Amino acid sequence: MPGGEQHPPPSGAFDLLDLGPGRNTAVFRLTLAFMILVLLTFISVEGWRAWRDYNHAYDFARDSVTNLARATAQHAEDAIRQVDILTYTLGERVEGDGLATINTPRIHALMVQQSRLMPQLHGLFIYGADGRWIVTDKDVPPDTPNNADRDYFIYHRDHKDPRVRISNVVKSRSTGELIIPVSRRLNNPDGSFAGVILGTIKLSYFMDYYGDFKIDDRGALVLTMRDGTILVRRPFMDSVVGQSLADSEIFKRYLLTANQGIAEIKAVVDGTYRLYAFRALSSYPLVVQAGLSRESFVGPWRRDLLKSGLVLLVLVAGFIGFAFIVLTQLRGRMAMESEIRLAHQAVRDMALTDSLTQLGNRRRLDMALNSEIGRAKRQRYPLALIMLDIDYFKRFNDRYGHAAGDDCLQKVAQAISGVLKRPADLAVRYGGEEFTVLLPDTDIQGAGRLAADILQAIRGLALEHADHPEQIVTASAGVTARFPALEDTTPAGMIKAADAYLYYAKNNGRNRWYADQHTQASGQAQTTD
Ligand code: GH3
Ligand code: MG
Ligand code: MG
Repeated sequence: MPGGEQHPPPSGAFDLLDLGPGRNTAVFRLTLAFMILVLLTFISVEGWRAWRDYNHAYDFARDSVTNLARATAQHAEDAIRQVDILTYTLGERVEGDGLATINTPRIHALMVQQSRLMPQLHGLFIYGADGRWIVTDKDVPPDTPNNADRDYFIYHRDHKDPRVRISNVVKSRSTGELIIPVSRRLNNPDGSFAGVILGTIKLSYFMDYYGDFKIDDRGALVLTMRDGTILVRRPFMDSVVGQSLADSEIFKRYLLTANQGIAEIKAVVDGTYRLYAFRALSSYPLVVQAGLSRESFVGPWRRDLLKSGLVLLVLVAGFIGFAFIVLTQLRGRMAMESEIRLAHQAVRDMALTDSLTQLGNRRRLDMALNSEIGRAKRQRYPLALIMLDIDYFKRFNDRYGHAAGDDCLQKVAQAISGVLKRPADLAVRYGGEEFTVLLPDTDIQGAGRLAADILQAIRGLALEHADHPEQIVTASAGVTARFPALEDTTPAGMIKAADAYLYYAKNNGRNRWYADQHTQASGQAQTTD
């Protein structure tokens, strides 16, 4: 664009409309960022909630299985201890009396009375060294009188171990019920094997107890020997009794280092993943395990997660939809604003541009002159103004026609623009065949040199002008300069001064310039040769 259009940036009434593309983009980005932030907050709050709920469910399940294991262990311990004590006291008594001479009816009565007090008891038996029963709590003698082949009998016969012994589950020979034998060796006074005293505990006693707990179908309660052999298990299956859990993680790993704890493992018996609490009994070589299937506590959590996930999904979808609408609207508004801005720019450019020469017009100069005087005052530099007028232009028009005159004006405008080098310099078409050049930060000498250069450039065009004494198109100029920081400076004053010197140049032969004597004491200078 010719003539220092860039400086100063045009300003004025239009600024009210000017929102600026940067501000719009910032608003768009801010809105987008805010929406993303809200979305992320939604998701992270839900995620945190789900994580917390899972932990709650897990902690609750862990506490439940721990309590179950404790209750089960206590129950087993109590049930066996009672039989332990009973067999001990009865055994003492029988050993004291001597097995051969015991008062059978009295011992029988004692056994009957004791077994009535103990719901877990299936039966009480005393066997002699040959394995034949001597006395029981039963009123009817058992059908199979000899138990010498039973595992516990053989053990007590061959070991002097005085402690009570718990054996694997067997089927009662007398009733067919599944029972846990709790037995003890009886000695003769000389310490030799006298027989066995046996208390049998009904498996159903444990089953009933385990059945009372409110756990889901896939939960498990297991009582095993210390070697892993199953005595009782809920859910109950015949085939499981006697099966070994020795290969399970709990026996292979956990019980090696701790008597109680928590383990999340896949069950050996049914392949279900469970959270187990295990506990080895303190007084007997038994272990209990209480397990809740992972599904029993993860399932409800998952269903809850699914529900709230669905709600979140709907919410997020709604929010994204909303965000989409808002952002689309915003984008639309921005596009509209940018169109308005461009249109406004075009209108402003049109309003401040001379359509023939594409230089600024007089309005442009008025705006610039005002603000440049202020700037020069603030920044303390001189401001110069050149007024230019083409010589004998009426004659040119008359001879060559108005169209050629317009063409000449365009070329002269280009010549002026070509001389101006600083972006701050501003050339305008002041009107008709008059031009004005505004030169910020330029003193009278500099402005004079520029005026001379411009006149030379116009001459350099060598446009034919037959009615001019010089035969080519020339121009005259008046130059003024002010130092607004030191003297009172007005736009009209500067134009008037430059105009006066232009008039002076015209009167003194044209094709020359004169400068402001007010600042240039050395007086006029001229370019003509
Ligand atoms: P001087 O040397 O004293 O300046 O004489 P001049 O003839 O140049 O001055 P004058 O003011 O008498 O004539 C100016 C002429 O410029 C009048 C008009 O025909 C012509 N003119 C003004 N504006 C335009 C324009 O836009 N196009 C054309 N072709 N001519 C214009
Ligand atoms: Mg004129
Ligand atoms: Mg003229």
